[in-house]
Amino acid sequence: MRDQDFFWEGVRDEKILVQRCDACGSLRQPPGPMCPRCQSLDWHPKAMSGRGTVYAFILSKHPTRPDDAPRLVVLVDLEEGVRMVSNLVDVDVRDVRIGMSVEAIFRVVDGATLPLFRMARGA
Ligand SMILES: [Zn+2]
Repeated sequence: MRDQDFFWEGVRDEKILVQRCDACGSLRQPPGPMCPRCQSLDWHPKAMSGRGTVYAFILSKHPTRPDDAPRLVVLVDLEEGVRMVSNLVDVDVRDVRIGMSVEAIFRVVDGATLPLFRMARGA
C-alpha cells in the first residue's frame, strides 16, 4: 500500500505524519491519494504533536498470537483534528476513560517500530 509508505517512514523517525493537502490545507487520515474536500492530488506530510484524547476504546480479546495479552484498541482524536486507530499501553483497562488525554510513544515490536499511545504524563 504505497499511500501509507510515508506514514511508516515517519514512524521509524518516531513521528506521526498525516497528509496535509497542498490546495486547501486540510489534514486527512487514513491516508489516501486524493483530498476528500477538494479532490487535489497534491499533499505533503505534516508531523503531529502526538497529543490527543481517547474518542473510543475496546478491549480486543482476539490475540494475533496465542500468548498475547488482550489489547486495548483506541480511537484517538489528535489535537490537530484527525482521528487514528492505535493501541493503548501501560494502563489498566479500568482506568481508561473517554476523553482521557494520551500521548504517542514508539516501541519496537517484533523488529518493527509501532506508534502506540499511553496516558499523558500529568493527566
Ligand atoms: Zn484539499
